[in-house]
Amino acid sequence: MSLPEFQVLRPRTLEEALELLDRRRGAIQVIAGGTDLVPSLKQKLFAPRYLLDLKSLGELRYIRNGAGLEIGALTTVSEVAGSAEVRRHFPVLAEAAHVIASPVLRTMGTLGGNLCLDTRCLWYNQSQFWRQSCGFCLKKDGTACHVAPGGDRCWAVFSGDTAPALLALGAEIEIVSPRGARRLPLEQFYTGDGMARMKLAGDEILTRIFVPAESSGMRGAYLKFRLRGSIDYPLAGVAVALSISPDGMCLGGRVAVTALNPAPLVVQGSQEALHNARLSDELLETLAQLAGRSIKPLTTSASTPEYRRDIARVFVKRAVRQAWNP
Ligand code: SF4
Repeated sequence: MSLPEFQVLRPRTLEEALELLDRRRGAIQVIAGGTDLVPSLKQKLFAPRYLLDLKSLGELRYIRNGAGLEIGALTTVSEVAGSAEVRRHFPVLAEAAHVIASPVLRTMGTLGGNLCLDTRCLWYNQSQFWRQSCGFCLKKDGTACHVAPGGDRCWAVFSGDTAPALLALGAEIEIVSPRGARRLPLEQFYTGDGMARMKLAGDEILTRIFVPAESSGMRGAYLKFRLRGSIDYPLAGVAVALSISPDGMCLGGRVAVTALNPAPLVVQGSQEALHNARLSDELLETLAQLAGRSIKPLTTSASTPEYRRDIARVFVKRAVRQAWNP
């Protein structure tokens, strides 16, 4: 479980980082907090010749709340969780950031890194020796998937906590490359493929996260199922953001899920169901059923697909109720 050999490159500006990334394309990997990447390097899941260490780029570490919320991708998870602005105006994001891993990992990990997490699978996040004993798998060095044998795609799950919160808030991201900057809804960033999980080219860096001003003040809740309460990835996660009128009507909102598919996603139909809705058992049941149709838990994780499916439906109901009446 030793680290492979690599050279660490520490750019002083974003411009320099982009140049280094472009020049060494194919042999270089970006590292920010390293909380996800370093264990994977030890497991020999990646063997880059160069690591591009972005952590010193102070220009990408800030939280600003003006015409919407803007967060630099290198802002640490603990800074997001502890920000008074985020807690007050975008509570679902603060809640999700607060339950990521453990305090030490939250101090190291970054928001951008959490959005770019590699997908996880019981058959993949193992030592090289372990994976070799099973003949490897499609995602790395093998030819078959142990989760869906006979298939030709990878179902490893996306396991970040902040992505569903940001999806529920309608967030967008900025991606920069030598060709310039592009901005896209976070919803369009993920592919749904456990191998090529996100639309980020080899010369691109995720630089900023934007939450629209209309989402400011939305009530929110994030519920996470994990085995170890003090430090763990989610095995199922549900985020809810709701705009509630003074008389208790939901003017709009979204339900988003994580750790149940190869991509985090907004539950299809949740926006329509929540529009001008009153809190009722029927509404909660409708949302739970919609979530059930959007998720596809498989045997990728340390809990059964059946339990994760059930708990997701329960969490949808609890999270909506909790957000509605905090
Ligand atoms: Fe490998 Fe299949 Fe797991 Fe993907 S889902 S990591 S291909 S076993």
